[in-house]
Amino acid sequence: MFLGQAHTTEPVVEAVSVGDYFASQPSKKAIASFIEHLRKTGKPHTWVGLTTTKPPEDEVPVILCRFAIPTQFRRGLQTRAPCAICSSLHPKFDEGFLIWSPTDGFIRIIGRTCGHDFYTDGSYGTALAEFEAAEQEAIARAYLSEHFHELPRLLLHGWDLRLRLREGLACRSELTAVLTNKCVQAMHRCAQGGWLTISRDTGRRDERGNRIVETVRVSRVSGISAFSTRFRIEELERCLMAAGQWVCTVKDECADYLSRLSRGEAIGAETDLRAVVAALEEAGEIARSLHELFAFENLMRLTTWGRDRDCPFPFWIARDKSGVVYARRGIKPQTFGGCRPLRIPSSVGD
Ligand SMILES: [Zn+2]
Repeated sequence: MFLGQAHTTEPVVEAVSVGDYFASQPSKKAIASFIEHLRKTGKPHTWVGLTTTKPPEDEVPVILCRFAIPTQFRRGLQTRAPCAICSSLHPKFDEGFLIWSPTDGFIRIIGRTCGHDFYTDGSYGTALAEFEAAEQEAIARAYLSEHFHELPRLLLHGWDLRLRLREGLACRSELTAVLTNKCVQAMHRCAQGGWLTISRDTGRRDERGNRIVETVRVSRVSGISAFSTRFRIEELERCLMAAGQWVCTVKDECADYLSRLSRGEAIGAETDLRAVVAALEEAGEIARSLHELFAFENLMRLTTWGRDRDCPFPFWIARDKSGVVYARRGIKPQTFGGCRPLRIPSSVGD
């Protein structure tokens, strides 16, 4: 009677399960099956191969994969996975590891941070670091196998772009020096939705006697942002040189070349290649806006604003019969004599 009563007050343990036994480290196939189950159900703990008892603590587990419950399945605490280490019967985590215990041969899931304090063998941290490095290497190699062949083309394009940008930025400095920084700043303030505007006194006054000023659009201009975009040519050069060291000159041997790279080299090559892609994207963007700015028709529209009677910092830009472009602040002179020509390189001009 007494015993029976004692039994009814015991917690009912129903979720502990013992899954597949693996005499040696589970294959990629087993891991793929787990991931597939997770992707479909969002419940890593219901995968048939899994064991939910506590792992042996005096060993170093093999970390098989990192996983996260897909966001579409997450509904707060209730949809989390239980952790074999600290919470085998209750929901605990969204992100964790699938581990294999060499001592008893079972696979379990544990929370992302739960291993550090649990395992008495101090090398868990080392095992985790090794897993993360291997993971990083796998990402690097996957990226390289897809993009490495583009490197020579990216480098050629990059060095060409560097030359064009150097010319374009020098030309921008020249024009800014002629117009003055204050004028360029005013231009930025007056730029609205692709238009340059002017504040015009209407000659009327409001009820308090203040002058009524209206903002009018005077010219549609592109590439104004090119005046202020910061760009460091040296940074582009550094990226190109860093990536240049990985070039494999024999096209058909790229795969072979990649397979010979060490882990550190593969990660380094991936980092440098990604950096070049990002730098070229940025450089391409500014090259485009410089090209827009220095297109002759665009410079003429800029001049419409600069020659407006209410322009705060007047200037003009014109082209003589031989095609030389001149720029000067102030009002337009009778002749080009004494004006400094603006050297617009063919790489940015028309
Ligand atoms: Zn835990």
